[in-house]
Amino acid sequence: MPDAAKKPAPRPSPESVPYWKAAREHRLEIQRCDACGRYWFPPSQSCPHCQSANFTWTPVSGRGKVFSFVTYHRVYHPAFAKEVPYVVALVELDEGPRLLTNIVGVPADAVVCDMPVRVTFDDYDEEVSVPKFVPLKAAP
Ligand SMILES: [Zn+2]
Repeated sequence: MPDAAKKPAPRPSPESVPYWKAAREHRLEIQRCDACGRYWFPPSQSCPHCQSANFTWTPVSGRGKVFSFVTYHRVYHPAFAKEVPYVVALVELDEGPRLLTNIVGVPADAVVCDMPVRVTFDDYDEEVSVPKFVPLKAAP
C-alpha cells in the first residue's frame, strides 16, 4: 500500500538532476542549446532541434499558457484525495517547450486553454519541490 499521506515524489534521471536541483531552489531552468539557441524539455543529452551536445541550463521566465489539460476526478493515490478535482496540464512556456504539470490556485472548472500562467513551486518535502502553475491574473 502506498503511504496515504505522502505523494509519490519524482525520481530524477541523470539528465534531469539539474532541473530538480533548480526547482528545489524555486528556479525554473531548462536546457538551452549553445549551437542553435533553442530551448527544450524534457531534459536530454542533446538538442532535439540540431543534435548538438553542447547546452547550458538556463533560467526561463516561468511564464506560459495552458496548451491542453485534463481534470482528474478520481483518486488514484490516497495522498491526492483532498485535491480532487485537480488539473493536469501541458503548459507551453514563453520560451517554447511544453511541461506536464498541474494548474493550482484556481478551481479546476476555471482552467481554459490559452490561459496565461506562471510557475510556482510545491515543496513536497525537504528534498523535492515540484514546479506547478497558477493563473497569471491571480498571481500575488
Ligand atoms: Zn540546437
